[in-house]
Amino acid sequence: MKTRTETVVKTYYVAEAWPGIETETESYAPVIAGAYQNPYAWVIVADGRSIAWGMGANAYLGTCRDSSQPWAILMRLELFARWCREPGFKERGPNGVGGSIQAENARFALANYGCKNYGGGLFKQHDGQYDRACLYLDYTPETLETWIDRFVEWAEHGPVKHVTDSVFLNGQVVREGCRHTYKTSAGGKITCDECGKVLQKLW
Ligand SMILES: [Zn+2]
Repeated sequence: MKTRTETVVKTYYVAEAWPGIETETESYAPVIAGAYQNPYAWVIVADGRSIAWGMGANAYLGTCRDSSQPWAILMRLELFARWCREPGFKERGPNGVGGSIQAENARFALANYGCKNYGGGLFKQHDGQYDRACLYLDYTPETLETWIDRFVEWAEHGPVKHVTDSVFLNGQVVREGCRHTYKTSAGGKITCDECGKVLQKLW
């Protein structure tokens, strides 16, 4: 028997800004390089302050979601970069919902993560009788009303399409409805039989 030895040269793509993160997978190279153009990208995916895009966020399926291991951070970074880049990426997200509103929210995170009181939460649409659409979104105090508007628009005209009575954020009412059960529909409007409130639904 003879033996033969071989020296293998491996190339690692190293994230200098984030100690411990390196990979042999070449396809991650543009993701790592791109993160240098976006100073918040690493910290958004690495910690849990961004409810919609951080560690533990619903947008990331599988084993990478809840792990603080370098490979998991890198996987989240790649997915986050795709959300930021592609408006139509995963037009229907993990729960059959999402799409462009989430891409918009990912870009919002990238631009606003450094803002004071940056946060996020679970937005839930209630139709007067039942919980309907829900989605995790990030926001700042100044942009919360805009994100509620955007969420309602998506919940009524996106893939789910339900009437909006009230909107809850992390279990608290942020847009008050009358919370009655609605019955009358005419002229493209739904009106509450009990108090006359006209719902926002326009289909
Ligand atoms: Zn009512």
